[in-house]
Amino acid sequence: MTQPVPTPHYPRRSTRQIHVGKVAVGGDAPISVQSMTITKTADVEGTLQQIYALAAAGCDIVRCTCNEIEAAEGLAQIVPRSPIPIIADIHHQYKMALAALEAGVHGLRLNPGNIRKPDHIKAVASEARDRGVPIRIGVNGGSLDPSLYEKHGGLTADAMVESAQMEMRYFEEVGFDLIKISVKASNVPLMVEAYRKLSAVTDHPLHLGVTEAGPLPGGLLKATAGIATLLLEGIGDTIRYSLTADPVEEARAGRQLLESLGLRERKNVDLIACPSCGRAEIDVIDVAKRAQDAFADKQLPLQIAVMGCVVNGPGEAREADLGIAAGNKRGHLFVKGRNVAVVPESEMVDALVDWANYIHEHGVDAALQRVDTTIAEREAARDRSALLDEQGADANRSSEKIVEIRKTVDG
Ligand code: SF4
Repeated sequence: MTQPVPTPHYPRRSTRQIHVGKVAVGGDAPISVQSMTITKTADVEGTLQQIYALAAAGCDIVRCTCNEIEAAEGLAQIVPRSPIPIIADIHHQYKMALAALEAGVHGLRLNPGNIRKPDHIKAVASEARDRGVPIRIGVNGGSLDPSLYEKHGGLTADAMVESAQMEMRYFEEVGFDLIKISVKASNVPLMVEAYRKLSAVTDHPLHLGVTEAGPLPGGLLKATAGIATLLLEGIGDTIRYSLTADPVEEARAGRQLLESLGLRERKNVDLIACPSCGRAEIDVIDVAKRAQDAFADKQLPLQIAVMGCVVNGPGEAREADLGIAAGNKRGHLFVKGRNVAVVPESEMVDALVDWANYIHEHGVDAALQRVDTTIAEREAARDRSALLDEQGADANRSSEKIVEIRKTVDG
């Protein structure tokens, strides 16, 4: 009998809720995924194209730089046509923040490390208050105010938290509290410590990220290490992977992390695959990659398995909604661990797509009724036993190798 998969529950730290356009952030709102465009914001069509691609990949909120007047003008045209809320990223020039608000953006991101004049900060906060537009205080370890750097003897978690608190005080002075905060650093332990300290002193929603995480795959690992650690402690209301890659990768990664932690409902295929071993009957890496490509743009909330052999595959992936395992040049399709069909090896990926669409439309029970499973079960049993006869239980020839090793050492 299969055991039910436990539903994860990580007690979430309670935060106030704000709205970035139509997206709620904080409180009991789902944790949202953010990314940032890498086009020139003045290039309206190019930027919108990227925003649509990001939204399709699971991005909830997108940030665009607003570094010049042309960018602000671009935002005025992008905002009404964007499928998701737009946040303007502001560095150094507070007037660009005012211009972005005029353009109708749904949020601002200010870096306290490079907009330091209290009057400028308050002017932006007052305007945002009047328009009901939230602001993220985006402290960045790499651009910390030099006075804080000096006071704390370098870049520390306390220095980053103090930077955020200073900015918050300016906002409070003008009665503005639609605030979201981030204290990003490229050093994972530092970033984790800074967010922990920040979450202990404020109930404003927090935006998580490991800044300048870098190219794949190292960047993904660093960002995941920092973001997942905090999410599992209940800290974080919105996240961004800062990768040196196509921003669509950032959105996909963010979405997949939340889905894999059970913090967002599954929207896309969760592709699982065995790591392959001496028993594999196919090039598992190649078939899994082709399956990944085939499902990349499909919104099918299913877990789908690619397994290298029919000996262990269907059993090991019995919790998957659908899977395929190779054996004797054939692909054995299984639904919830039960064999349903046999296809030629060359048609494995196409068969997966066909059955995935069927399950999505009609459900698992209907898929099991779709065909006479006894034929598929008999064929799978036959191929399984043929493989066991041919390879034995020790497909990696470990016992044989051990005998050889002993001979080498003893001889
Ligand atoms: S035993 Fe089969 S399913 Fe398991 S890793 Fe090896 S090839 Fe993959």
